[in-house]
Amino acid sequence: MHLQRLLFRQQQSLSLEIKNYCIEKIFMKTDDLNKKKKLRLLVDRKEIAWFPVVDASVCNGCGDCEIFCKPGVFTPGKQEGVQRPKMTVSNPDNCIVLCTRCQPRCTAGAITLPRPEDFERFVEYVA
Ligand code: SF4
Ligand code: SF4
Repeated sequence: MHLQRLLFRQQQSLSLEIKNYCIEKIFMKTDDLNKKKKLRLLVDRKEIAWFPVVDASVCNGCGDCEIFCKPGVFTPGKQEGVQRPKMTVSNPDNCIVLCTRCQPRCTAGAITLPRPEDFERFVEYVA
Protein backbone atom coordinates (compact mmCIF):
# COMPACT_ATOMS: atom_id res chain seq x y z
CA MET A 1 0.00 0.00 0.00
CA HIS A 2 2.78 2.31 1.02
CA LEU A 3 4.63 1.51 -2.20
CA GLN A 4 1.53 2.26 -4.29
CA ARG A 5 1.19 5.67 -2.66
CA LEU A 6 4.84 6.40 -3.28
CA LEU A 7 4.54 5.47 -6.95
CA PHE A 8 1.40 7.59 -7.28
CA ARG A 9 3.23 10.61 -5.81
CA GLN A 10 6.17 10.10 -8.13
CA GLN A 11 3.80 9.97 -11.12
CA GLN A 12 2.10 13.16 -10.00
CA SER A 13 5.38 14.95 -9.57
CA LEU A 14 6.58 13.76 -12.99
CA SER A 15 3.40 14.90 -14.77
CA LEU A 16 3.71 18.30 -13.04
CA GLU A 17 7.29 18.62 -14.28
CA ILE A 18 6.19 17.75 -17.83
CA LYS A 19 3.34 20.29 -17.62
CA ASN A 20 5.69 23.04 -16.44
CA TYR A 21 8.17 22.17 -19.18
CA CYS A 22 5.44 22.48 -21.83
CA ILE A 23 4.23 25.83 -20.47
CA GLU A 24 7.82 27.09 -20.44
CA LYS A 25 8.24 26.05 -24.10
CA ILE A 26 4.99 27.79 -25.11
CA PHE A 27 6.13 31.03 -23.46
CA MET A 28 9.56 30.74 -25.04
CA LYS A 29 7.90 30.47 -28.46
CA THR A 30 5.71 33.52 -27.76
CA ASP A 31 8.80 35.48 -26.71
CA ASP A 32 10.61 34.44 -29.88
CA LEU A 33 7.67 35.62 -31.97
CA ASN A 34 7.58 38.93 -30.13
CA LYS A 35 11.26 39.41 -30.88
CA LYS A 36 10.51 39.39 -34.64
CA LYS A 37 10.35 43.04 -35.57
CA LYS A 38 9.27 44.78 -38.72
CA LEU A 39 11.83 46.46 -40.85
CA ARG A 40 11.33 49.99 -42.21
CA LEU A 41 13.44 51.50 -44.97
CA LEU A 42 14.99 54.89 -44.21
CA VAL A 43 15.61 55.84 -47.85
CA ASP A 44 13.93 55.09 -51.15
CA ARG A 45 14.22 51.42 -52.12
CA LYS A 46 15.86 52.37 -55.42
CA GLU A 47 18.77 53.91 -53.52
CA ILE A 48 19.54 50.61 -51.81
CA ALA A 49 21.63 48.22 -53.89
CA TRP A 50 20.49 45.14 -52.00
CA PHE A 51 19.69 42.28 -54.35
CA PRO A 52 21.13 38.91 -55.32
CA VAL A 53 23.59 38.31 -58.13
CA VAL A 54 23.48 35.04 -60.05
CA ASP A 55 26.72 33.64 -61.41
CA ALA A 56 25.60 32.29 -64.80
CA SER A 57 28.70 30.12 -65.09
CA VAL A 58 27.59 28.23 -61.95
CA CYS A 59 23.77 28.34 -62.25
CA ASN A 60 22.29 25.08 -63.52
CA GLY A 61 18.84 26.52 -64.16
CA CYS A 62 17.09 24.34 -61.57
CA GLY A 63 14.57 27.11 -60.85
CA ASP A 64 14.55 26.60 -57.07
CA CYS A 65 15.27 30.25 -56.35
CA GLU A 66 12.44 31.42 -58.60
CA ILE A 67 9.95 29.14 -56.84
CA PHE A 68 11.26 30.04 -53.41
CA CYS A 69 11.38 33.83 -53.73
CA LYS A 70 7.80 35.06 -53.32
CA PRO A 71 8.54 38.71 -54.25
CA GLY A 72 9.42 37.50 -57.76
CA VAL A 73 13.01 38.68 -58.04
CA PHE A 74 14.14 35.90 -60.40
CA THR A 75 13.16 35.02 -63.99
CA PRO A 76 14.73 32.36 -66.21
CA GLY A 77 16.84 33.81 -69.00
CA LYS A 78 16.90 32.85 -72.65
CA GLN A 79 17.00 29.20 -73.53
CA GLU A 80 20.21 28.33 -75.32
CA GLY A 81 20.46 24.89 -76.85
CA VAL A 82 19.14 21.96 -74.87
CA GLN A 83 20.29 23.22 -71.49
CA ARG A 84 17.92 24.78 -68.99
CA PRO A 85 17.99 28.58 -69.10
CA LYS A 86 20.19 30.31 -66.55
CA MET A 87 18.41 32.31 -63.90
CA THR A 88 18.42 36.10 -64.05
CA VAL A 89 17.63 38.79 -61.49
CA SER A 90 14.83 40.52 -63.35
CA ASN A 91 13.30 42.52 -60.48
CA PRO A 92 16.11 43.51 -58.11
CA ASP A 93 14.03 46.18 -56.38
CA ASN A 94 11.54 43.52 -55.32
CA CYS A 95 14.22 41.95 -53.16
CA ILE A 96 13.52 42.47 -49.47
CA VAL A 97 16.36 44.43 -47.93
CA LEU A 98 18.50 42.22 -45.66
CA CYS A 99 16.70 39.02 -46.72
CA THR A 100 19.20 36.26 -47.46
CA ARG A 101 16.90 33.28 -47.71
CA CYS A 102 17.50 32.28 -51.32
CA GLN A 103 21.27 32.01 -50.93
CA PRO A 104 21.30 28.72 -48.99
CA ARG A 105 18.55 27.40 -51.26
CA CYS A 106 20.88 27.48 -54.23
CA THR A 107 22.80 24.27 -53.77
CA ALA A 108 24.97 25.14 -56.76
CA GLY A 109 26.26 28.19 -54.92
CA ALA A 110 25.39 30.55 -57.75
CA ILE A 111 23.70 33.24 -55.65
CA THR A 112 25.58 35.92 -53.80
CA LEU A 113 24.19 38.78 -51.74
CA PRO A 114 25.89 41.82 -50.25
CA ARG A 115 27.12 41.87 -46.66
CA PRO A 116 24.15 42.64 -44.37
CA GLU A 117 26.31 44.77 -42.06
CA ASP A 118 26.93 47.20 -44.93
CA PHE A 119 23.19 47.79 -45.29
CA GLU A 120 22.00 48.03 -41.69
CA ARG A 121 22.18 51.84 -41.90
CA PHE A 122 19.35 51.85 -44.47
CA VAL A 123 16.82 50.28 -42.15
CA GLU A 124 15.26 50.64 -38.75
CA TYR A 125 13.34 48.06 -36.77
CA VAL A 126 9.86 48.84 -35.55
CA ALA A 127 7.81 46.88 -33.06
S1 SF4 B 1 18.75 28.01 -57.35
FE1 SF4 B 1 20.82 28.52 -58.06
S2 SF4 B 1 21.28 27.00 -59.63
FE2 SF4 B 1 19.04 26.97 -59.33
S3 SF4 B 1 18.25 28.42 -60.85
FE3 SF4 B 1 18.56 29.56 -58.96
S4 SF4 B 1 20.62 30.43 -59.17
FE4 SF4 B 1 20.46 28.79 -60.69
S1 SF4 C 1 17.03 37.70 -50.71
FE1 SF4 C 1 14.91 37.12 -50.24
S2 SF4 C 1 13.65 38.58 -51.35
FE2 SF4 C 1 15.72 38.74 -52.16
S3 SF4 C 1 15.77 37.43 -53.92
FE3 SF4 C 1 16.44 36.18 -52.20
S4 SF4 C 1 14.60 35.22 -51.35
FE4 SF4 C 1 13.96 36.86 -52.72
